[in-house]
Amino acid sequence: MMATTHVFAALVVVAPVAYAHPELGTALAAGAILGGLAPDLDLVLEHRRSFHFPISGLAVAVPAVMIAAVSPSSLAVGVGAFVVAAWLHAVSDAIGGGPEMDPWNDRSERAVYDHVRDRWIRPRRWIRYDGAPEDAAVAVALAIPTLIVFDGWTRTLVAAGIAASLVYALLRRRLVAWTPDWLE
Ligand SMILES: [Zn+2]
Repeated sequence: MMATTHVFAALVVVAPVAYAHPELGTALAAGAILGGLAPDLDLVLEHRRSFHFPISGLAVAVPAVMIAAVSPSSLAVGVGAFVVAAWLHAVSDAIGGGPEMDPWNDRSERAVYDHVRDRWIRPRRWIRYDGAPEDAAVAVALAIPTLIVFDGWTRTLVAAGIAASLVYALLRRRLVAWTPDWLE
């Protein structure tokens, strides 16, 4: 799924906490946004493996949330949101498609790497590929509650993210033709 879908999902998870504790909203939003994006930095390494921890990430997320709950400083809350968002990203990659640019002609059976069992998890394709119509629909559905809960720069970013997601989804199938072979 799209980077924006990952980010909106992370913001939805932290939104109830931000609603109850508005003073922590900035830390929660920053942690969720960065954590939702961070795993895909492994594009330059081994994508969906180096920075994706769908199983073991939970072992880091649980204590990070407990620490943030016990001592809710901005730093602890931001780190907690980051770790949860990064774990959620890795898990949700399993319900999407493979990382391939062209899923119509070139399907991969590698959704995300399970470091615990040392094997690839296969794509469930509930969202068939990034930028699919259902991906755009999920992104918008997730973004709406975050537009209500958050304000300021977070709301602006989410609105920009919705627009970018819709444009990407509209152009997605054409992008394959425009992408040079060496990039795929
Ligand atoms: Zn990913």
